[in-house]
Amino acid sequence: FPDSLARTPMSIAGSQQVATESVAQRAYRLDREHVFHSWSAQDTLDPMVITQAEGSSVWDGDGRKYLDFSSQLVNTNIGHQHPRVIAAIQEQAARLCTIAPQYVNEARSEAARLIAERTPGDLNRVFFTNGGADANEHAVRMARLVTGRYKVLTTYRSYHGGTATAVNMTGDPRRWPSDLGTSGTLHFWGPFLYRSAFHAQSQEEECARALEHLEQVLTFEGPDTIAAVVLESIPGTAGVMVPPPGYMRGVRELCDRFGIMMIADEVMTGFGRTGAWFAIGEAGVVPDLLTFAKGVNSGYVPLGGVAINREIASYFGKRPYPGGLTYSGHPLATAAAVATINVMEDEGIVENARRLGEEIFGPRLRAIAERHPSVGEVRGTGAMWALELVRDPATREPLAPYGGTSPAMAELTVFLKAEGMLPFTNFNRIHVVPPCNISDTDAAEGLRLIDTALDIADRYV
Ligand code: PLP
Repeated sequence: FPDSLARTPMSIAGSQQVATESVAQRAYRLDREHVFHSWSAQDTLDPMVITQAEGSSVWDGDGRKYLDFSSQLVNTNIGHQHPRVIAAIQEQAARLCTIAPQYVNEARSEAARLIAERTPGDLNRVFFTNGGADANEHAVRMARLVTGRYKVLTTYRSYHGGTATAVNMTGDPRRWPSDLGTSGTLHFWGPFLYRSAFHAQSQEEECARALEHLEQVLTFEGPDTIAAVVLESIPGTAGVMVPPPGYMRGVRELCDRFGIMMIADEVMTGFGRTGAWFAIGEAGVVPDLLTFAKGVNSGYVPLGGVAINREIASYFGKRPYPGGLTYSGHPLATAAAVATINVMEDEGIVENARRLGEEIFGPRLRAIAERHPSVGEVRGTGAMWALELVRDPATREPLAPYGGTSPAMAELTVFLKAEGMLPFTNFNRIHVVPPCNISDTDAAEGLRLIDTALDIADRYV
C-alpha cells in the first residue's frame, strides 16, 4: 500500500487545525462539507475513504485492505485496475480525449462492433449513453416513437435507474418519492417462487401463472396503448430472482402477439455477470432493445447504451432520432469498453463466472444455508447470488422489512466490514457479487466471512 496516499501529512499554509491531516482525512472532511451523496441522508452518512484498488481488493484511508464482494455497484466485472484497460484509457487520452457524437471515432466504432457481435439476434446497432438509467430512458423513447404508443409495463421488484422515466419504471421503494403517477409506467408481478404472488408450488406453476397474469394485465390495460414491456433479464438489486425456464420466451410471445416492444435491461446482468455475455441470449430470447452499462467497461469510465434491432434501426433510417448526448460514445469510455471486452475474451472471464457459480458459489452457499436457519433461500447464477434472510423460516418473515433495514442486517453488515469485506447488503439480503475473475481463494474467504456473519442473523430467528 502506498504510504504516501494514506499517511503523508498535508502542509496547508495558514491552517493550524488541518496541518497534519492525511490526504485521506482531508478527502473525508471535504466530502462531508461539500459532496452530496446518492440515495442518502447527507448528515447521517459515514462513508469509507477508498484510496486504492487492485483486482478484488480495495484499500481504505488507513491502508486497510478489504475484499470487494460487491464489485462496487456490481460493475467491476473484471476487477479493479486491470492493466490492459488502464493502458487503453491512457493511450486514448494521449491521442484524443473527447469528440462530439456526430464524428466517427475508432474506439466508438470498435466498441459498437464488439457489443453487437455479443448481443443476441439482430441487435446490431448501438446507441451509447453515459450509464444504465439513460440507456433505459432512450430505449423507452425509441419504443414509444416506433409503436406510437405511450404506456410501459415493468415488474415489481426491479430497478431501472435514477432518472425520470427509469425511476418510474423501478418496481421497488426507490420509486415511491418520485412517482407522480403520470409517467405512463405500470407494474406487474414477475416470477418469484419463494414469495409467489400466485401461490404457486413449483417453478413450472410459477412460470405459467406469471405469464397468465401478464397476459391479463396486457389485455385489461389495452394492448394498443402499450409501447413496451421492460424487464431485467434477472432482477438484480431487487433480489437476484432467476426467472424459471420458459418465462422470458413466454414474455417474447406475448409481446409479439400484441405488437409490443420487449426491452431487456441487462445493465447489471450483461457482460459476464451471469456466466454468459447476456442472460437473455442464454435464455434463447432476442428482445427488440437491450440496455447495458456497468460491466461493459467494468465501470472504469461511465458508459451505457442501447443495442437496437434491425426494425427499430431502420425506422430511424430516414427520420431522425430525436435524442442525443454530448458524450454518446465518449472515446475514453469506449476505449475502456474495447479493452474490457478483449480482456474478457482473452482471459475467459465469462466462462470463469459460470464456473464460479456452478462449482463454488452455488454448492457452497447452499451448504452455508443448511447450517443457518436465518437463510430462507439461496438464489443465483454465475457471479450473481443472493441470500434471502428471514426471521422465521416457516412464515418467511424477512429479517428486515421491505424497503428498510433492521438491527440484524445493520449488525451483520458492520461485522463484515470489520472483518475486511465490502459486502453488498440490501433490505433482508446479502448479495454475493464479486468480480467475475475473483480468485478461488478470495471467493472462499468471502464465503467464510459470510458464513460467520450469519451466526449474527441466526440470533434473531
Ligand atoms: N438497470 C439496472 C438493472 C441496474 O442495476 C441499474 C443500476 O444499478 C440501472 C439500470 C441504472 O444504471 P446507472 O446507475 O448506471 O444509471
